[in-house]
Amino acid sequence: MRKHYFLGLAANYSRKRCLAHTFAIGRKKDRGALQRFLTQKYGGETILTKNGRSALALALKAYFDPGDAVIVNGFTCYAVYEAVKAAGLTPVWADISQEDLNFNTKTLEKVANEDVKGVIVQNSLGNPVDIVAVEKFAKKYNLVIIEDLAHCAGIKYAGGREVGTVGSAAVLSFGKDKAIDTISGGAVILRHPHKNKVEAPSKLPRISDNLRARFYPLLGAISRGLSYVHLSGIWMRCLVKIHWVEKSADNKLDLERKIAKFEAKLALRQLQNLKESSKHPLREFRLVRNREELLKKLAAAGYYFGGFWYERPVSPERYYKKVHFPEDKCPVAVEVAKKIINLPTCYSKKDLALACEIIAEYVEETK
Ligand SMILES: *Cc1c(COP(=O)(O)O)cnc(C)c1O
Repeated sequence: MRKHYFLGLAANYSRKRCLAHTFAIGRKKDRGALQRFLTQKYGGETILTKNGRSALALALKAYFDPGDAVIVNGFTCYAVYEAVKAAGLTPVWADISQEDLNFNTKTLEKVANEDVKGVIVQNSLGNPVDIVAVEKFAKKYNLVIIEDLAHCAGIKYAGGREVGTVGSAAVLSFGKDKAIDTISGGAVILRHPHKNKVEAPSKLPRISDNLRARFYPLLGAISRGLSYVHLSGIWMRCLVKIHWVEKSADNKLDLERKIAKFEAKLALRQLQNLKESSKHPLREFRLVRNREELLKKLAAAGYYFGGFWYERPVSPERYYKKVHFPEDKCPVAVEVAKKIINLPTCYSKKDLALACEIIAEYVEETK
């Protein structure tokens, strides 16, 4: 195995896929084709968006009124919080089980109250929630279910129903490292009648956003090349500084911008090829003791393990304080965030074998 010092950017893009992405030519009709596909697949009115958080914000605006509260999985990314706030709602965090990183009947019951009008199902890292229990809970308190498919597009719940066919709305992200990954883009399918009217985006994407999304995998490939001469750190810092690369969490929520045409084309292709098992779990995880020590050992063996989902109950770290996360009410999420590591998706099984041996000594709980 070749030693890697840096694998961060678009590490899941093979050389072939990287080239296909960089030179993809999108046409206007690609947006229409994607929209028709999603409408048919999930059954509802489809709106294409700039990213997943904008799609989630539209879903929330459609089904809730400002001031309502919605239950959010207590282990998620800042994008979800952003969408909840953009819709004028209050997030109510439900603690998780460490087996599947999803809320459960017990933790849901703990946070139910009369202000809560809905629940966002996330199926963390592609681990399906006990959907029948969630449906029962939703029925009992008269809640609207929103399914966020960023991690899990294509998978099935126990019992065989596909994710996105249960809730009132299905939300997709086509962002970096998501189940469908075209670097950015998103969609929402409004499946049930909604109380508030929402508008589809009418403005074209910014040219700067288009260029960033188009060249991200290529810049990532170059950074991996540079890692062999120890220059990828400087290269990356420069790219971020001059805004050629944007960190995922900084991708702005924007309800007015359309998806890029080439992203619509690539997203449709991925959706058409989506196999239930292909990308799942999205990120295999382990809960470990002494994470810092373990990471040092892995690095010494030539592995790059970085960027965990999630190193805080609401990630990334630099936005965590803004969320005012109720740590005392979600102790499991707080613990899991300290212990989680994800197996990188860019190594072959064979290459990962040694890493897994090293990790095994530190594993506290296996799934
Ligand atoms: C990343 C993510 C989103 C939003 O995706 P963006 O396209 O980055 O806005 C929504 N929900 C979950 C659970 C996510 O991980």
